[in-house]
Order: sequence, then structure tokens, then C-alpha cells
Amino acid sequence: MQQNLDFEIVVVGGGIVGLASAYKIASSHPGIRIAVLEKEERLAAHQTGHNSGVIHSGLYYRPGSGKAETCAKGRKELIAFAEEHGIAFDICGKVIVATAESELGRLAELFERGRANEVEGIEKIGLERIREIEPACSGIAGLWVPCTGIIDFVEVAKKLAELIEAKGDGNKVLTGHEAMGFEKHDFHTKVLTSHGGFVTKYIINCAGLQCDRVARLDGVEPGVRIIPFRGDYYELTEEARDKVKGLIYPVPDPAFPFLGVHFTRMIDGAVECGPNAVFSFKREGYGKCDFSLRDSWDSLAYWGTWKLFMKNWRYGLGEYRRAFSKRLFLRQLQRLIPSVEAGEIRPSKAGVRAQALGPRGELIDDFKIERRGSSIHVLNAPSPAATASLAIGDHINEIATQYFGLGETAKREQPQRTERKGKGKDRGKGRKSKDASKPEG
Ligand SMILES: Cc1cc2nc3c(=O)[nH]c(=O)nc-3n(C[C@H](O)[C@H](O)[C@H](O)COP(=O)(O)OP(=O)(O)OC[C@H]3O[C@@H](n4cnc5c(N)ncnc54)[C@H](O)[C@@H]3O)c2cc1C
Repeated sequence: MQQNLDFEIVVVGGGIVGLASAYKIASSHPGIRIAVLEKEERLAAHQTGHNSGVIHSGLYYRPGSGKAETCAKGRKELIAFAEEHGIAFDICGKVIVATAESELGRLAELFERGRANEVEGIEKIGLERIREIEPACSGIAGLWVPCTGIIDFVEVAKKLAELIEAKGDGNKVLTGHEAMGFEKHDFHTKVLTSHGGFVTKYIINCAGLQCDRVARLDGVEPGVRIIPFRGDYYELTEEARDKVKGLIYPVPDPAFPFLGVHFTRMIDGAVECGPNAVFSFKREGYGKCDFSLRDSWDSLAYWGTWKLFMKNWRYGLGEYRRAFSKRLFLRQLQRLIPSVEAGEIRPSKAGVRAQALGPRGELIDDFKIERRGSSIHVLNAPSPAATASLAIGDHINEIATQYFGLGETAKREQPQRTERKGKGKDRGKGRKSKDASKPEG
């Protein structure tokens, strides 16, 4: 039975990816009504509000990958967006510094990768030039990446929310609304939230640290598990801030999708040092000892997690020791700036990365965005997804336009029929939609 819709599309998650996607759809389809549901009382409360604030260049990613393609495009769009809407940003550039001979090969590979990805202005530099850019920094060789910058992604998220609502009377960005279940009907879905239900045709899951769970609520088996990796930061005291002019990064370990502990000048002038990457016992836990039985069980009952631990126990142990020892954390920072002293750093914020892990213990490196029937699920959107958010939004808009029949020329397609109604965690579990084997994106 046809039912009056509250919204054509409901986006779950008011982080930067959900907001950028809703913004892109609302911009190219002004007639449709779209809602963004955010479970917290404020937007960008998790990854988007707990990151390094770096506008990445697109240097690191495998040419042709989703990350490489969306990062450079997203960066340029983000800068144009910030300029248009008066959001502060600074293209301060960054240096990547090799501190040991053993890193030189990887530094050379990074340079080639940067060239393959057409990163503008990238340069190989020696110690003299490193010192010109960052006088306190030490190393044996480096790369200068002038198009990297800094921004406050929370400001971007807030502006996107404002614009989504401004684009149509029927558009809503609703905080304090947790999507808790999906009642599937023939031609619509009722999204059950902590504040009542909304009837919609299409769902876009951008729930970050909860995206695998939201997918299961929608009857979709995501094929990956979100494993939370906390990153702790220290910050430089006001007196020591002068030691960092812009961004100073180490050469990353290619075995991991993390960039290594770095120095980041933030848009408010503070200098952050971090983040490390430790397995977290709570998905949205920002304290070193935070624990959630449900989250720990979900991670530890997954065979992929144990495979990851077995392959990388030495690295993991090192990260754990550094998380609890200021002395060890400092030692890592001193590889980049030898003059930093214990009294010049103090504990600061933490962030938790949503990292998708496959069943064989493989860390999913690229973005993972899949359409299943009348839903789109963003199942892996780690760094640089904040930088790339507007380009990811374009990509999601393209999928929605094509498969949800939003555009005039789009292929018309009714959402697939489902037989079951219900609510809650187990509803739809293990049930695949008719075209679940045809992921898009
Ligand atoms: C420590 C750290 C440093 C990083 N540094 C950078 C960087 O410098 N540059 C960069 O580009 N990227 C960086 N990233 C990555 C970047 O922050 C993320 O890729 C990006 O923020 C992901 O956005 P998102 O919208 O997918 O997720 P989130 O920002 O986590 O948003 C998801 C939202 O969904 C909501 N939600 C979850 N479940 C539900 C539900 N059932 N109902 C309603 N709402 C729900 C959550 O409350 C949350 O607000 C960093 C990440 C971390 C953790």
C-alpha cells in the first residue's frame, strides 16, 4: 500500500559524510524532502569532531582508489566551500620527514605516488630546506607538500546542516534522533527513532562508528565489522607552540592505514601532537580506560579481530605502551622535533576511528560504499573522508540519482519488495535484499 512519505530520503548520521551527502542531494534535487537523523544532541559529535583537522592533499592513496579520486577533488571543493561561506582555513603545507635511512625507500615511493595522484607542488627536500620550513624539525630527507591545509571540520558540518535546511522547507536536520529500527514495507520504510517514526522511501547509512550495526538493522549483512581504534593526542604548551609552523608528519608504515604520530597546527593556533592508534574497548569511548561490554564483545567475538591481533601483536603492544606512557609518546615526537621536552606537552583530546575489518583480519583500506535495494550504506569512511566529504557526497548523489530514480533522466526503479515487518536489532537479520550482491560505489 502506498503511504504518504515524511521524507523521500532519510540519512542516518549527522557527521560530515552524512551531511555532505544530504547537501549534495538537496542541491541537485531541490524538489525532494530529505532528513538527516543524528542520535547525539549536537552534530559532528564523533569522528568529525575529534579529528586532526587536516585538509589532506591526496598523496598517500593508491592511484585509482576511491580515496585517491575523492580526496583531491574533495579538497578543492572543500576550499571553495570554505571560501564561499567564510569558514576559516589555512593552506599551510606540510613536511613529511624521514628520520632513518630505512625510511628513504618509502619516502621515494610516496613521492612517486604523489606524482601519480597529481598532487600539486610536491617536492623532494633535504635537511636544509626542512629547516627553512620547520626550523625545529630534524630528519635526513623529506617531502614538501604545499597544498595540504587545516580547517575546523565541525564548522563545515554546521554550515552544511544550515544549507540543507535552507534548500527546502521539507528538509530537516534532526539531532537527538537515533535510528533504532527499520520497518520494511512494499514501497516505503518506516524509520523508528528515539522520537517517533518517519516514513521514507530511501535510506542512506552514514553512521560512522555504528555503520555496520545500522546496516544490520536494515537487513543488510555488511561483510565487515567496525573495529574502533582510539587516537590520543597531546598538545604543546603555549610557550612551545613556536616549534611548529605548520604540519610535520613522519613517513607512514604502509602496513597500516594510519599516518603516524604527527604535529598539527590547528586553525585556532593550538598545536596537537598525535594521534596514536590503539584498539579501543568502546566505539565512542574517548578515555584510555573506557569500556563497553557490547562493543568489546562485537570486536572480540569476530575472528577477523584475532587474525589482526596475531599478525600485528608487536605493533599493537607498542601502541598500547605509548598510550599509557608519556615518556614513550614523547620519544616518538622527539624523532621529528628533538628539542620537545616532557614539560612542553600535556594530554589533550582523543578521537576514535571507525575502521572496517574483513573476516581474514584485513584492514579495509579504501572507502566502502554499497547500494543494497533502496538503501546506500557507507561501510568504511576513514581518513581522509572529512577532506573528501563533498566528493563522497557527489558519489552518493550519483548512486541515488541513478538507482533511486531521483533525476528526470534517471533509471526509474521501485524499491524492492520485502516481506517482513518488525523492529529492532534482529529484524531483517541475515536477510539479503534481492540485489544485495550488486554493490555500487
Ligand atoms: C583521530 C582522528 C583523526 C582524523 N584526522 C583526519 C584529518 O585530519 N583529515 C581528514 O580528512 N580526516 C581525518 N579523520 C577521518 C575523519 O574524521 C572521518 O573520516 C570522518 O569524520 C567520517 O565522517 P562520518 O560522517 O562518516 O562519521 P562521524 O563523524 O563519526 O559521524 C557519524 C554520525 O552518525 C551518528 N550515528 C551513529 N549511529 C546513529 C543512529 N543509529 N542514528 C542516528 N545517528 C547515528 C553518530 O552519532 C555520528 O555523529 C580522522 C579521524 C580520527 C578519528
